[in-house]
Amino acid sequence: MPLTPYHLALNYIIYLILVRFKIIKKGDYTPLWMMFASNLIDLDHLLRMFSGSSMIKQEYGLDGLLLHGWWVVLPISILSMIKKWRWFGFGWALHIILDGFMVLFGLNSFLFPIN
Ligand SMILES: [Zn+2]
Repeated sequence: MPLTPYHLALNYIIYLILVRFKIIKKGDYTPLWMMFASNLIDLDHLLRMFSGSSMIKQEYGLDGLLLHGWWVVLPISILSMIKKWRWFGFGWALHIILDGFMVLFGLNSFLFPIN
């Protein structure tokens, strides 16, 4: 199960912190929407769901998720250098870090137990 609600909550918290420290101008919502949009990479989970791989793998790992793989360091680096797209890249990186922590600490299964 994708953790999209948690991603959105984290994006919003990070956004508020960045506004508080004046890294993002107050009233500028573009970075927030870009971060929200970056969570569309979770369509990955759906793609895998329909690819016929086992349920356990879907719940507990990021393996086989195209947009969650190590190679995304490259597009994220490129995006972070393009002013217009850097918040999308930032959101993408944040997304993978949160997914990684969830898998690392087994919280993926804690939040969405399968019976
Ligand atoms: Zn994800």
